[in-house]
Order: sequence, then structure tokens, then C-alpha cells
Amino acid sequence: MARLDQVPPLPIVRGEGPWLFDDQGRRYFDANSSWWVNLFGHADAGLAEAIARQARTLPHVMLAGCTHEPAVELAERLSTRTGGALGHAFFGSDGASATEIALKMSAHYWRNRGLPDKNEFIALAGGYHGETLGALSVTDVAIFRDAYAPLLRRTHLAPALHEAGALAAIEAKLVALQGRCAAVIVEPLIQGASGMRMHGPEVLRELRALCTTYDAHLIADEIAVGCGRTGSFFAWEQVDPLNWPDFLLLSKGITGGTLPLSLVLTTDRVFEAFLSDEVARGFLHSHSYTGNAIACAAANEVLRRMDTVLPTLAHQAALLREAFAPLLADARIEHGRQTGLVLAFDVQEAVAGARFAERFHLAARAHELLIRPIGRAVYLMPPYLIDAPTATWLAERVRATLDDVCPF
Ligand SMILES: *Cc1c(COP(=O)(O)O)cnc(C)c1O
Repeated sequence: MARLDQVPPLPIVRGEGPWLFDDQGRRYFDANSSWWVNLFGHADAGLAEAIARQARTLPHVMLAGCTHEPAVELAERLSTRTGGALGHAFFGSDGASATEIALKMSAHYWRNRGLPDKNEFIALAGGYHGETLGALSVTDVAIFRDAYAPLLRRTHLAPALHEAGALAAIEAKLVALQGRCAAVIVEPLIQGASGMRMHGPEVLRELRALCTTYDAHLIADEIAVGCGRTGSFFAWEQVDPLNWPDFLLLSKGITGGTLPLSLVLTTDRVFEAFLSDEVARGFLHSHSYTGNAIACAAANEVLRRMDTVLPTLAHQAALLREAFAPLLADARIEHGRQTGLVLAFDVQEAVAGARFAERFHLAARAHELLIRPIGRAVYLMPPYLIDAPTATWLAERVRATLDDVCPF
């Protein structure tokens, strides 16, 4: 089979619902939501209208000394969804910059509190938080990291939360750092980029308590798992709706897969540490498109729509679970797993063969499926448009692809 790097990219000309169409009119089901950003399908009419309306009214104005209604509405809607616990929003333009902002804000908070040496971070094995230098420093995915390792700040790496003994290991790091840990950064419920590795809410509840005990911030990176992906708007709602992380990061789905935007949500306590007449105590992280009004308008439309979509997600997840149950029992497969609208399994090492992800991806195209495994992990993270026939169709096509790539 051809290598992916020798195959020309698919010339996609149009999207409609979960489908993408190439210039020959062939269709492909977008099974991982264009790298996890799409929620309601492509070229959604409501989102297109919200974007057009804002573009005709006020596309952008600097948020320094000015404000605008779409930004205020967005911050308030998100605050309400945390019961007011995360009542402050800082606007960025992509996921990696949300990570940068949270790391800077955490360390600067401690500095403003008279603890300038409290500037170390604990991150987890297999964690992914973006690929700018600061974000890459707390990312542990070798393919993204290795070439740039000499440029990165040292991070304290603890085992992932699905590993036994993870909490004890994190506590040992907190003890060893003797009060110098500014924050622990995690992906709640699902570690995405290292292969959809899942853990339950209990371990996060305990991690929250641990961070409180050792006076370290907890940063919940919900860039991939937020916006309904796990079944609730925030993954954290399943952990403890009364006891939130100190920082929560959103991006990807927040504009429904239309425009770049990210948010760092935080508490009154963090916000107040920056209030001062001294410039050096303020949080200086300027970028040109902060709080872009068109992106905020798209996000507000996503949040309005969520009121009707969220109650359907449990049913959509159940349809996927039922449709994939026979495939997950297949002898070629191990570790079938699902959290909300993310369903994943690993193909047994003995049957996967060389360059499995690439071969599976190319074979799937012939079955009208756009899907990109991570190593041996095949996953579906579809737009929230799953009905019974779609779930059955997806399971059939994934099985047909597997039969092509790993025949019995
Ligand atoms: C995608 C992702 C990021 C980075 O977002 P970009 O917009 O690609 O920079 C950070 N954290 C997680 C968990 C992600 O999935």
C-alpha cells in the first residue's frame, strides 16, 4: 500500500453535516470531527448566520480599554455553566496559547503573592497541551517533543491518571518540590493525543484535594474534552460540580469548528491577585486578536445550541456503544473504551503490522470514512449527529476497514 506521505492530500471542497466532499464529488464521514473541533456538522447554517451577522456589525475591536457584547456574553455564559466558580475569562486564539496563558498566570499569581520561586509544573505521562515551547514543555508525546527537547523548560512528569499509583506519585512530586509547584496540569477523563486513554472522575476528585492540600493550582485542559464531548458541557461537571479546578482551558469545539478561539477560565481568587496600580503585577499577555468578536459570536451560538444538544448526547453515546459492541468483542481488538462521544479500541500488536495508523487511514477512505488512528488506537470522535442508522453504518465501515488492513 502507498505511504501517506506519497499520497496527495484530499482536495476537500465542501462540507455538509458530518460529510466532507472532494473535488470528484466523493464523500467522507468526518469520524474525528476534523481533529476534534467540529460539533454540529460542517457548514452549519446557524453558525454561518451568527458569524455573518457579527461580521456585518463589528468584526473586531481591541479589548484594551474597550469591550463588546459578544465577549461579555461568552464570559457570562461560561461562568454560569460553572455555577460562578470560574467567573473570569481570558481570551486566546488557539489551544496552545491557552496553555501558555494558564502556566504564566499560575506562576505570576504566586509571584504576586510573594512566592516567586513557586514556578515549577507537574504534568502527566502521555499528556498533550499544545506545541508552542511552553505548552510543549508540559506535553509528553515523543513525536511532537523530541526534536525540540533542548528548547524546553524542565517539567516534573508523573504517571497518567489511568495508571495505578498515579496519585501517590503526584503527591511524592509535590512533597519533593517543597512548595515550589505552581500547578499540576491534566486532561480530565480522556488523554487525547496519546491515544484516547481514559480514567474515571474519582481520581480527579482526589487530585483536586491533593492540589488544595499542597497549595498548587490545578489546570484542567478541556480543550478537547470540553463542549459536550464527554456527555456534559465540561468534563469537570462529572468530577465535582461544586469544587472546580483553578484554571479551565477551552478551545477546539468552542466555535463548533469554524474559527480559532480559546479561553482560560479562572476564579475570583486568581483574578484578585492581579489587581494593582503597578503594571508589573498585572497579567501581561497581549495578542492582536484577543476576544475577536466574530469568534465570540460563533461561540455564543454554540452555547445557545448546546441547551438543546446536551440532553441528546447520552442517547447518541448509547447508540455508538450498541453499534460497536460486536466489533469491540473481536479477537483482533483490545481495550475497547468509551467516554461520551469518544469511542476507541486498540488493535492487537500481533495483528496491527507496520505503519498501522497510516494503512488504516488510507484503507478507510475507500469506505467513505475519514479517520486517523493514533498508533494502534482507532477512535471515533464524530460530530454530535449520531442516529441509529449512522451508528450502524460507522461500525460496519470500521469493521470493513479493519478486515482490509488486518484480515483474519
Ligand atoms: C488540541 C489540544 C491542545 C492544543 O490546541 P491547539 O489549538 O491545537 O493549539 C491542547 N490541549 C489539548 C488537550 C488538545 O487536545
